[in-house]
Amino acid sequence: MAVNSERAGAVRIAITGVVQGVGFRPFVYRLAQRLEVRGWVLNDARGVAIHAEADLPTLDYFIDMLRREAPAAASIAALTYEPEATHGCRRFEIRESHGAQSPTTRISPDLPVCESCLRELRERTDRRYRYPYINCTNCGPRYSIVLALPYDRPNTTMRGWPLCAPCAREYADPSDRRFHAQPVACPDCGPKFTLERSHEPAIAGDDALAEAVRLLRGGAIVAIKGIGGYHLACDARNATAVAALRARKFRKERPFAIMVRDAAKARELVVLDAESAKLLHGIARPIVLAKALVTLAGVAPDNAELGVMLPYTPMHHLLFDGGAPTALVMTSANRSSEPIAFRDEDARTMLDGIADALLVGERPIARRVDDSVVRAGPYGPTVLRRSRGLAPHVVATLPVSRPLLALGGDLKNAIALCIEGQVIVSQHIGDLEHVPAVEAFRETVAGLCAMYDLDPSDVEIVHDAHPQYRSTREADRLGGSKRRAVQHHRAHVASVLAERGAFDERVLGFGFDGTGYGDDGTIWGGEVFAGSIRAGFERVAHLRPVPLPGGDAAARFPVQAAAGFLADIAPNGMHDAPFDFPERYTLGQRMLERNVRSFTTSSIGRLFDAVAALCGFTREVTFEGQAAMWLEQIARGATEARGYRFVLDGDQFDPRELLAAVVTDRRAGYEPGTIALGFHLALADTIAALDKRFGIERVVVSGGVFQNALLLEALAARLGPRLWINRLVPANDGGICLGQLALAAHV
Ligand code: ZN
Ligand code: ZN
Ligand code: FE
Repeated sequence: MAVNSERAGAVRIAITGVVQGVGFRPFVYRLAQRLEVRGWVLNDARGVAIHAEADLPTLDYFIDMLRREAPAAASIAALTYEPEATHGCRRFEIRESHGAQSPTTRISPDLPVCESCLRELRERTDRRYRYPYINCTNCGPRYSIVLALPYDRPNTTMRGWPLCAPCAREYADPSDRRFHAQPVACPDCGPKFTLERSHEPAIAGDDALAEAVRLLRGGAIVAIKGIGGYHLACDARNATAVAALRARKFRKERPFAIMVRDAAKARELVVLDAESAKLLHGIARPIVLAKALVTLAGVAPDNAELGVMLPYTPMHHLLFDGGAPTALVMTSANRSSEPIAFRDEDARTMLDGIADALLVGERPIARRVDDSVVRAGPYGPTVLRRSRGLAPHVVATLPVSRPLLALGGDLKNAIALCIEGQVIVSQHIGDLEHVPAVEAFRETVAGLCAMYDLDPSDVEIVHDAHPQYRSTREADRLGGSKRRAVQHHRAHVASVLAERGAFDERVLGFGFDGTGYGDDGTIWGGEVFAGSIRAGFERVAHLRPVPLPGGDAAARFPVQAAAGFLADIAPNGMHDAPFDFPERYTLGQRMLERNVRSFTTSSIGRLFDAVAALCGFTREVTFEGQAAMWLEQIARGATEARGYRFVLDGDQFDPRELLAAVVTDRRAGYEPGTIALGFHLALADTIAALDKRFGIERVVVSGGVFQNALLLEALAARLGPRLWINRLVPANDGGICLGQLALAAHV
């Protein structure tokens, strides 16, 4: 096509969003080549800037295609353009970036292997045929390999592998898909991998893969090094293998996630509606929770849902291509609830006696990043664990210029940084009761701060108001230029508003969870607030508090929570059918009588536990929220509901009448599921009744209780679009770091 220079024009195009480190410049270059557009592209502080010259219809088409054909990993927030004078450019080029990069464009989350790389992986004649470290600017690791910024190869864990001539050529060629792909490698110059078994020589290369497949097919447990840590894998359909994994990992009942070969295999296991399918294929490749169609023994005991994900590293694809079982349990390699192992030496030690073999790749992992967990719901996708593929994305913008660091809570810890008003939330870290998790916490604080050139002793630190929280003590350790404590449930409510930038929106906010330190020093968890982020939140209502026996044990034994909630209702006699409460119940009662180790709480989470105990969950829970999840599952199976209600009494909602009715109904032989459903609906009715009483247009819910999908559906039916929930950060304590920042930014 001959360019008509007389009619040629020029435009300046500015593109913001996730457009750096995702192959955007090579994409623009190739598109410009194709359309014979002249000019240049570069990364600047705000994103990508383009100067384009061509005839006007071509420029229109070029702009259109920039939007339509952008790389899968890119996410364009805005594309603006304005006419400019022509410079008489003769070709199109990629120019050196100028200006300081804004914090938001510095590092992208890790990306799944792309279609083009996957094709090459399977192409016999390709020089990266069956090479598990294949990647390009559209795919591959990012956050998990970066050691320092700027994001250049010498600052990644790939620095130990100098590029061979062909790789170097691709890396330097702007028209190549691997132009400036920092982790680029090939079998000649890149990392290798081996299969290790104790007392046997290591196997390398393709033989390692073949042996891993053979072991998995035979029911063995294989540790597989992935993007952000090691997974323990076994055949999900092999009940013996799954049981062995549980026993060796000391993981009693918490569900395992499953990696399926492809979406078709996912559909054999779960109901995959359009939105869940979209999440499954999404660029984060998360674990998607969906309704189970089958029961796989031991995978997700007592759970109507299964968590499924697609392969996301080349290695995963090679395993499935090689004939690995089409559904693999893929669980974080650790003992119990410790953080995922990510260093080879730690993995060898920690997994000794758990894994039968380790599939170890040489490329080091810079930091642990677990799989993310998401679920589709009545208000769109929700995030239950924000980690690989999602961290470290910007989740909110705050009107504050000074840097802030929020330390989150002690359970499901995640931290957040606010730099130049941009909030970056870390990956999921874990429960800070474990020493290794505290180490991971410290590494993450130090790592994120270093990445954004912050010294923790210079920034304002925000933490939970609980004086005994580990994260609070860590705040002492870090120092900081200033310290600020934010009440737990206000942080939950604020997190929802911060995601939307709604700092002045006056809301009725519900913070329902298991435990959080209250203004009065008691443990809260059933709190209702009126107010806004800017004006602050006033506690206007709450669950009627009760004394619970046994400190932490109250959360482990639902019958102990029941002893507290039933104190006025059923002083004795819970040991007979249908209740059959174990001795723990009496123990709890005695502790209450003698007033030893009991504490006052308005926790809805513990109320769920008490109702679960009345419905038959009388054993010890093995993970947080288990009894509530169980109660939701049995309620889902019910076709009718018993009618219950909370009594609104001043600023309290009182469950005593409801609990007495549950006891009566159980004795009368009503199905536990029918009772459980009635309880869920009563809670939704109470929220609706409080909404009516306060008459505030906007309603917000957050806190671990609202991960309950059944409760959310009931609320959607009552409140519709007036209700706002968390979309980007978890409703559980993984999201409070965002709320902490939002409230601290407005003081
Ligand atoms: Zn690729
Ligand atoms: Zn090479
Ligand atoms: Fe909480």
